[in-house]
Amino acid sequence: MEQVQSATRSVFEVIEDYGHEEIVFCNDSKVGLKAIIAIHNTVLGPALGGVRMWDYPSEEAALTDVLRLSRGMTLKAAAAGLNLGGGKAVIIANKETLKNKEMLFRRFGQFVHSLGGRYITAEDVNVGVKEVAYIRMETPYVTGIPRSMGGSGDPSPFTAYGVYLAMKALLKEEEGNESLRGKRVVIKGVGKVGSSLAELLHKEGAVLYLYDIDKARAEAVAKKVNAEVLQNEEEAYTTPCDIYAPCALGAGLNARTIPMLQCHIIAGAANNQLEDEERDAQLLKERGILYGPDFLINAGGLINVATELEGYNEQRSREQIEKIYDHTLEVVRKAKEEGITTHEAAVQWAQQRIANIGYLKQYNL
Ligand code: NAD
Repeated sequence: MEQVQSATRSVFEVIEDYGHEEIVFCNDSKVGLKAIIAIHNTVLGPALGGVRMWDYPSEEAALTDVLRLSRGMTLKAAAAGLNLGGGKAVIIANKETLKNKEMLFRRFGQFVHSLGGRYITAEDVNVGVKEVAYIRMETPYVTGIPRSMGGSGDPSPFTAYGVYLAMKALLKEEEGNESLRGKRVVIKGVGKVGSSLAELLHKEGAVLYLYDIDKARAEAVAKKVNAEVLQNEEEAYTTPCDIYAPCALGAGLNARTIPMLQCHIIAGAANNQLEDEERDAQLLKERGILYGPDFLINAGGLINVATELEGYNEQRSREQIEKIYDHTLEVVRKAKEEGITTHEAAVQWAQQRIANIGYLKQYNL
């Protein structure tokens, strides 16, 4: 992992490279809160992105994570056609933070509120609807609030729906037929998104292989969707299949794993799947594997929580998510025409939209 602070580079120099607008360090030792809010870009609108709670090995690791994740949110919102910018927050977890979650998350909510809506938070790893409800007690600048409170609830099934549609678009482009019937799909990570995705694929008659470090979870999901459970991580990479779906954590696609893959298409929900974006996208291209760019195809959950900002309506949310199908086709075709990787095509596509809307905004008097 890149070290944010080194003997030769200051924090400000690193932030300059990432292109962030603002980083806020939130500290309250009484409630055990150490959090970082990173606002990457607000050209399209307020920066929206979830808050992750993680036991980071160091403060530098937490800062690196939030810088990378928030930059990814800028691209994700832009590519999804949302009028939102990119932001993210991390809470550095320790034994103390787990003791009084109400205090912790309400205090975090107060910090979010102090930014006056420039940053809007949501759930992420280790933060669910219960924690989001605590944040809501202190600020309206939070999305993904429980359905019982008028919100959109858990975004995971919507993320899965977007990935499923992207799989269809990629199949259409690769084989001329978008049906998933009989297609062999390996899903790595069957948590909230991976299990929803497995159900959608099972309904359409796909043949499923599941791997999760939590074996009991993999077995429980496999029972529901008539899948085979893979025994170790290597099998997840080497099992011959049509589609490989990374739905665990990031950086699983790299110089070690890409040569092992036995798939034609990659489409999954995990954020930051490529360990080294340019190198690994190129390796996949050279191997003839069609890669569905993560931030483009896993935007379903973001689109769903963003719908809350206008008054939640599930139908409207689904219609917006369905555009992921067309966006995926467009990006793959751009990549083919220009001889670039699908990752690069998706980045250019998102950046172009930010530049275009940024131009328009100068006339918003
Ligand atoms: P989750 O925590 O519910 O599930 C993750 C699963 O991956 C767990 O079952 C865990 O045991 C498993 N796992 C972790 N490391 C693994 C490994 N090395 N090999 C195999 N399995 C492993 O999380 P989730 O909400 O389902 O999210 C999955 C991924 O999708 C994450 O990268 C997340 O950032 C991304 N994502 C989620 C959403 C959403 O709506 N939840 C939206 C966009 C992106």
